[in-house]
Amino acid sequence: MVLDSLGASLKSALQKLANAGKVDKEVIDEVVKDIQRAMIQADVNVKLVMRLSGRIRERALTEAPPPGMDSREHVLRIVYAELVNIIGKATPVALEPQTIMMVGLQGSGKTTTTAKLARYFARKGLKPAVICADTYRPGAYDQLSQLCAKLGVTFYGERDNKDAVAIVRNGLRETAKYDVRIVDTAGRHALETGLIKEMKDIAALANFTHRFLVLDAAIGQQASEQAKAFNDAVGITGVIITKLDGTAKGGGALSAVSDTNTSIAFIGVGETPEGLERFDPDGFISRLLG
Ligand code: GDP
Repeated sequence: MVLDSLGASLKSALQKLANAGKVDKEVIDEVVKDIQRAMIQADVNVKLVMRLSGRIRERALTEAPPPGMDSREHVLRIVYAELVNIIGKATPVALEPQTIMMVGLQGSGKTTTTAKLARYFARKGLKPAVICADTYRPGAYDQLSQLCAKLGVTFYGERDNKDAVAIVRNGLRETAKYDVRIVDTAGRHALETGLIKEMKDIAALANFTHRFLVLDAAIGQQASEQAKAFNDAVGITGVIITKLDGTAKGGGALSAVSDTNTSIAFIGVGETPEGLERFDPDGFISRLLG
């Protein structure tokens, strides 16, 4: 998956620990430097890398291993724990009636993820409905209505109406009897004033349980700035990182989550409606280091 190369470099850094004659300051410094290099290459932002590696270094140098654990295992555990700590807990997503607003740039995977989420809730026994408020990208309406038809999910849209706010207002009224209402909003190639205003106006229509930011794993260093702008506009409750099955580096998206103090709700791991997983920080790091 996307973070394979980060995983491989982290594993080789930790291998040094396993091979070292004894775990002293020199070995720890070298391992920490390797971890830094691996993360920077994976597009994790430098501030985050420094914070993480600083914590690992300090704990590895000052904390004594608990009884029965050798110092190698101890340092490994510190690295693991600090990586999990940086990623944070998954966004809680309750299996109960709720409204969800999806935001993100064009091409991030918002529309695909909207359908995936509808499927997710349907499989949990809740009745979902999807509202298409993407009046900007040609084809968004057809794409989403066809995906929903395939999944047997109720779809609300107004093909010829360009007023996204009005569509959402009508859509929320029309789908009132459904358990989970998911609004797919329009993206742009960049965050423009028009888009920000539209998002704010839509967000004001309902007390949305979640406002999910959809981020492409390939986004790189500009991820944090983008996430901050979306967060300022509508208050992000969680991030969905898509295309984690691809070959991108992934570190930019992870940095954005940490920088905006949000958390990851789901990850996208494929183009089909099944390609969505609840985010599990422990499993994620185990997979990375495993
Ligand atoms: P939108 O403009 O944000 O609505 O983006 P779309 O939902 O149309 O997705 C853009 C492209 O990304 C499409 O070709 C999707 O099939 C693809 N895509 C979305 N999520 C994933 C994912 O998790 N994995 C892969 N491999 N492709 C994805």
